[in-house]
Amino acid sequence: PVRPRRHSRQVTLRYAVDGEPRELKIGGGAPITVQSMTTGKTHDVENCLAEIKELADAGADVVRVAVPRPEDAEALKDIVHGATVPIVADIHFNHKYALKALEAGVAKVRINPGNIGKPEWEREVLLAAKERGTPIRIGVNGGSLEKDILDKYGYPRPEALFESAMRHVEACTRVGFEDIVISVKHSDVYFMIQSYRLLAEATDYPLHLGVTESGSLKTGPIKSSIGIGSLLADGIGDTIRVSLAADSVNEVRVGHQILKSLRLGRPGVNVIACPTCGRLAGDLFSVVDEVEEAVAARGFDKDLSVALMGCAVNGPGEAAGADLGVSLGRGRAHIFKRGETVGTVDQHEIADAVIQMIENWDEAAEGN
Ligand code: SF4
Repeated sequence: PVRPRRHSRQVTLRYAVDGEPRELKIGGGAPITVQSMTTGKTHDVENCLAEIKELADAGADVVRVAVPRPEDAEALKDIVHGATVPIVADIHFNHKYALKALEAGVAKVRINPGNIGKPEWEREVLLAAKERGTPIRIGVNGGSLEKDILDKYGYPRPEALFESAMRHVEACTRVGFEDIVISVKHSDVYFMIQSYRLLAEATDYPLHLGVTESGSLKTGPIKSSIGIGSLLADGIGDTIRVSLAADSVNEVRVGHQILKSLRLGRPGVNVIACPTCGRLAGDLFSVVDEVEEAVAARGFDKDLSVALMGCAVNGPGEAAGADLGVSLGRGRAHIFKRGETVGTVDQHEIADAVIQMIENWDEAAEGN
């Protein structure tokens, strides 16, 4: 089904791969992109590029790097040159690094308006970005709001994040610069959702969604799914980043899984599994693990749903809505294609049989 999305303007991230110019669009109906951020030192160019490659291989569309020191700003040129995805420079406190990043040819600069410093410094960055045609993300964060705004609201309330973002949108429009993406991240999921809603109502700039400091691999994906997912389900959001206190490749995987769950992602195999109950007739959890691992490893781009069900009582019915389905029986499993039984296999052959069927699935012939 076609789902309505909030109308947003479009910004273009320009980058090059082996000297070939490329573009990535954010907003304006472009596919929603998944971002992540490196965790190593940016000035360690070799390791930084290795991490960027790992993230890109996992499906990151955009990668951000921190620029806290002069040597990081110096390294940006080599990073931009060696990366195969658009690089975003993350700038706090020192606007000079933002100017350096623009010179180095990054695809976008993120500034934290709460700590970028004097208005004339920000203006200098905006004018330089305008001249180069490089977008800026106004990256408001509940943990680092401007002091006067925090004093006014007493707590980083949604209205406070919104006011901070709008103050800097005005700084952009004053210099005729509108190539902007906005984020209003908060570690409180409910406040994060409300902050973005205010922004979505008041502007048509593309929005970068994220729950900041969302936690470990245990809690972070849940908070991010609720925060980012609630907004995406309502058509709000143009690019996302899941922040996790874990290996950053996980951020990319979870990001794509959020998009896939809302059918907003790239085409791919969506694995559905029953939770099991007293009717379970076999080892479904192992089958689910095996199928999920094989699907992730092969990176299928066929748009298919595969339902893995634990019994023959409700399994076939529950699997009927999927393209491919499996329901366990005693020692064997029935295989379904769009609700029709097409064969049975032994329990230990299920995962291989499912992967084989995905491989053989002909989208044109099946009418996908
Ligand atoms: Fe239980 Fe069978 Fe439904 Fe799974 S498919 S939850 S085992 S009834």
